Amino acid sequence: MIVTCHCGNVEITVDVFPEEVGECNCSICRRYAALWAYYSPTQVALKYIKEKTVFYIWGDKEVEFHRCNLCGCVTHYITTEKCDEAILAINMRMADVDILAEIPVRKIKGAGY
Ligand SMILES: [Zn+2]
Repeated sequence: MIVTCHCGNVEITVDVFPEEVGECNCSICRRYAALWAYYSPTQVALKYIKEKTVFYIWGDKEVEFHRCNLCGCVTHYITTEKCDEAILAINMRMADVDILAEIPVRKIKGAGY
């Protein structure tokens, strides 16, 4: 599966199709309206056509939220070495609508309720 940002600068390739996507209501995910598919960083290939992504990090600095610097799409997040788990989550909002329509959405209560 290959997903891209709107302008095509960021290309994300993964061999395993997601069984579900996570819709989290925490302070950042709800603002991004992201639908996450979770992988190990070793499973995912990131490619940049023009320039690298930029990212937002805050608080405990465990997660970098990456976006395309050209079109602004939030493409993925990756955990840092401060986090116990190595996770790369692809924002499946970057996928084609017919792909997205096939994947069940799991609600995650990241906000705590
Ligand atoms: Zn882009």
